[in-house]
Amino acid sequence: MTRSTYRFVDMTIGPDPQGAPYTVRATCTTCGEQPPQPEPDQGPTGQHSQAQHWCRTHAATDHPSGRHLHYTANVTFGWLITPAEDIGPTADEGAWSHP
Ligand SMILES: [Zn+2]
Repeated sequence: MTRSTYRFVDMTIGPDPQGAPYTVRATCTTCGEQPPQPEPDQGPTGQHSQAQHWCRTHAATDHPSGRHLHYTANVTFGWLITPAEDIGPTADEGAWSHP
């Protein structure tokens, strides 16, 4: 049996400048349709407004009698953990690394 010593290290979390850009994308849960991929430079508020606009248009114009009334909003962005002190080498980054 291997014995290990653990210690607590303060860590902060914040936006990852190298991570996934902030994106908001809606999906109609009735038919699975999505709007075009949003442009990251629109910012969070602009992307939320654009996604909600697409949902209203999809329900009212694309399917006025089809009852496409339920949507899922997916928000994606990167977070970065910053330890307050050195905690050793970083993990290997695989398929889940930066975009
Ligand atoms: Zn739909």
